[in-house]
Amino acid sequence: MVNVAPKDIVILGAGVAGIRAALDLEKKIDSRTGRIVLVDENDYHQYLYKIQEVCNKDYEEKDIIVPIFRLIKGKNIEFIKASVRTVDPERRVVDTTGGEIPYDILVIALGSHIAYFGIEGLEENSLTLSSFEAAREIRSRIEELFKEVAQKTFDTLKFSIRGFDIDLGAKWKKIKYVDDFVICRNIIMKDEKTQFLLAVLSKPPESDDIERYYEQLLDWAVQNSFPDLEKLSTI
Ligand SMILES: Cc1cc2nc3c(=O)[nH]c(=O)nc-3n(C[C@H](O)[C@H](O)[C@H](O)COP(=O)(O)OP(=O)(O)OC[C@H]3O[C@@H](n4cnc5c(N)ncnc54)[C@H](O)[C@@H]3O)c2cc1C
Repeated sequence: MVNVAPKDIVILGAGVAGIRAALDLEKKIDSRTGRIVLVDENDYHQYLYKIQEVCNKDYEEKDIIVPIFRLIKGKNIEFIKASVRTVDPERRVVDTTGGEIPYDILVIALGSHIAYFGIEGLEENSLTLSSFEAAREIRSRIEELFKEVAQKTFDTLKFSIRGFDIDLGAKWKKIKYVDDFVICRNIIMKDEKTQFLLAVLSKPPESDDIERYYEQLLDWAVQNSFPDLEKLSTI
């Protein structure tokens, strides 16, 4: 049994609510008569409201995750790292992986669970935005998708533009992204050092008709990548 003095407040969860409750209550509690015990299965706090940015920015772990000891440093708050299993209100104890913790006053701030609303296949086929690690997983899946672009052969495309007759070979790739397709090709110049990605975003085709891509690619290329296309003529 974890040793907790009488008249103690036990706070389950060191998320936004738990930390706020601990810090506010600490100002009101006389340390001679009671203590505040904060329990969480992790010894860090996550700035959850920032994690969506991890999906598309180079956020570091330290920008999102802060050790709990740093938040309660110098305060009359004891931290216990343990996972909460059950609460027995009759005996006024919390059962945790670190043993039983008795309480006089209990604050439950254990956050939420993802709801799948009984929709078949949703849990197995979705990614959740629930933690720093989960956000990193989403980001790496997006990056994987773009890498696939470089591996899947799409079709042969040959086009001429402003006097250049360029055969880009049979290595166009396409990838479905949101409601559109990105089609692109990794171009390696003769010197084998210079590389660039020639890409065009297009609406999903109604058929696999290459001409549709051909027209869109030409328009896009004229507007955006004439210098690159000039280099291509040397391939
Ligand atoms: C992507 C995203 C963006 C958001 N943006 C905003 C925003 O802009 N503004 C806003 O107001 N809110 C935002 N929110 C919501 C906000 O983050 C939550 O409302 C808030 O975190 C809830 O606080 P909480 O303390 O109740 O739970 P949480 O912050 O989830 O904390 C729960 C704590 O309990 C711990 N815990 C859970 N189970 C156990 C267990 N069995 N044993 C031990 N410990 C356990 C967890 O480790 C965690 O530390 C956002 C949330 C997300 C996911």
